[in-house]
Amino acid sequence: MEGSDSFSDDDDFVTTQKRTRRRATPEVVEKKAKLVKAGPSTSAAKSKPSTTKTATALPDPSKHLAVETTRAANCAEGELNPRGTKDKEKRKSETATSLVREDQNFLPVPWSYILDEEEMEVEEEEMRLRDGRGIIHRAVELAEEFHIKYVGSSDVRLGTTVKGEGVDQIRKTILRLVGVAQNETTSSDLDVFEASPELVSTQEEQGLTAGQREVLFQEIFGRGGRVDVEDKPGWFLIIHKAPTTGLIHLCLEVPQTNRGVLGYIAIRLCTKPKCYQYSQTLSSDVLPKCAQHQPNPIFSVVEMTDYNRRDVLVLLHMKLAFSVVSNASKQMKDEKAELMIHHLCTGYTQWANYCTTSGLQTRPIPKSISRHHFNNEGEALRMLSFESTIGMFIKLASGSQPIINLDDLIPLCYGMEGEIDARLKELGIELKVRRHLTKDEKAGVKYPFPGEYLLGTAAAAQQQPAKGNTFLYTIMSRNMWYFGWSNTPDFKHRFQLRAGTDGAREYKRITEKRQKDRELEIEGLRQRDRELGRAEDLCIYPPPLKAPTMTPYLVANCEDDDKKNINTKTIEAKMIIAGYVAYLLGLRNPIRPNSDVGYSTNKCSLVDSNSWGEICEFVKLFWGFEPMLGKLNERN
Ligand SMILES: [Zn+2]
Ligand SMILES: [Zn+2]
Repeated sequence: MEGSDSFSDDDDFVTTQKRTRRRATPEVVEKKAKLVKAGPSTSAAKSKPSTTKTATALPDPSKHLAVETTRAANCAEGELNPRGTKDKEKRKSETATSLVREDQNFLPVPWSYILDEEEMEVEEEEMRLRDGRGIIHRAVELAEEFHIKYVGSSDVRLGTTVKGEGVDQIRKTILRLVGVAQNETTSSDLDVFEASPELVSTQEEQGLTAGQREVLFQEIFGRGGRVDVEDKPGWFLIIHKAPTTGLIHLCLEVPQTNRGVLGYIAIRLCTKPKCYQYSQTLSSDVLPKCAQHQPNPIFSVVEMTDYNRRDVLVLLHMKLAFSVVSNASKQMKDEKAELMIHHLCTGYTQWANYCTTSGLQTRPIPKSISRHHFNNEGEALRMLSFESTIGMFIKLASGSQPIINLDDLIPLCYGMEGEIDARLKELGIELKVRRHLTKDEKAGVKYPFPGEYLLGTAAAAQQQPAKGNTFLYTIMSRNMWYFGWSNTPDFKHRFQLRAGTDGAREYKRITEKRQKDRELEIEGLRQRDRELGRAEDLCIYPPPLKAPTMTPYLVANCEDDDKKNINTKTIEAKMIIAGYVAYLLGLRNPIRPNSDVGYSTNKCSLVDSNSWGEICEFVKLFWGFEPMLGKLNERN
């Protein structure tokens, strides 16, 4: 049991890295594991100002921002800034953070993979065919059911706009101030046969006119420059002059904690007619636009670190959306992204938590390590998935430096096996099969997690739900596995589609729809042939596409009295990562050996950096293959 007393619960913060040995005995496993995950974490949440943590305490009224109570001189009707005001350049003043931004010579804390000495241990065993095999590059297009599962829910899917929190209430407040009835109430009173289209037209078709905007501003000025947002306690609409640019805007004022102090921030409302969004509007624009209405949208994936931290490699991956002038150079995009991460970080839970780490020598300042820019959000999401999956392996591998990985949920990357293989190799890591276990070898593998392994045992049928009992399960088909946990060993309701959108349900929905669509297609062709009077046995139809059978299996139980089921979720996360490793290595459903190479369909939480040993043990137990992270280019 070497090393078992030198583990830290928070391995990230120790400078001498010790990890679970690959051949860890089960005792090692029983140390407390900590699941590194907190707070909401949709990609959308990462790329919009965090205005959501406002529920409980409100800032002291003295913290309200300065507001304007009269209109600036020489404004046109419905405008807040004098005629001819131009957009401002971004602030050029020299601050600690601007110096960090402009530091072109910055290099992150170097990290390189070091092989655990244990790994070198050579055993006398006969080589088997698949020993040493690496990541399998699949030369097929990734089927829809295996598309990357992005964090959050379906609204983060491509192309859909996420409506910001409170946008409906902002709209309602503004329309009431202007005295315009909302669309719903107006149209329901109308007799559609008598009303001409012009009469139906409320501001919702047109957007506010200059006159209506003028009314809005005068109403707010008349109330002292600040009005409550309806049904959003603690939220206000204010007319506010940006201290840095002097530009005046209609803003949302919401509570925000900055460096531990609860205060308010102003966020510009989009000035596109009919839009009440506020995400990513700029104080330097005379007429700010939200992310959706900015011209030339750019979606960037940034890997960033803490500029001031030199003892540990801090990593965080973020997706940004912003707009640039047309034909902007890579350097311009880089600069803009650099400017944005500073603002976005403060609203990002994981970074904010990191900033409160006790004993930090210097205040953390975010600095990008790499930047990738796209015109298309889908490509950016794929890159985010790729980069954070690589970050997960860096966290799991034993490195020359301890790392703090601030990514919370990893949208595991599918369909890019070649790229993952290549990047890991660049880092000196080679993921491969160390050993295809023989039957005897497999029989000797112990379940690495707390609780009882039930797969294929008689005990599986005897499990009962009880307080403090949790269950780990898998759902498998001929080409898919999914891991989850439950309070009950009974899966009767597991497949009901209305209950959620996890990977298993999505797989079921998509494959069943494909089967149904094919049935309809064939039926349509049959119908046509009958109408044409063709002889049935001469007609050729496309083959049916039968949705694969999905079977749930109880994998293990666990005693977990914790309200949040942290232990169970930690085991689940490790099983999910094991399932992902099995996918990369091209393994198959172990219960149906003649099945195809499988895909996992989970996204996952990050686990402790000392989890790799347990993950490997589980792959051995479940699939009968031992994975390893080999070291490439070892020189001595
Ligand atoms: Zn907008
Ligand atoms: Zn990365």
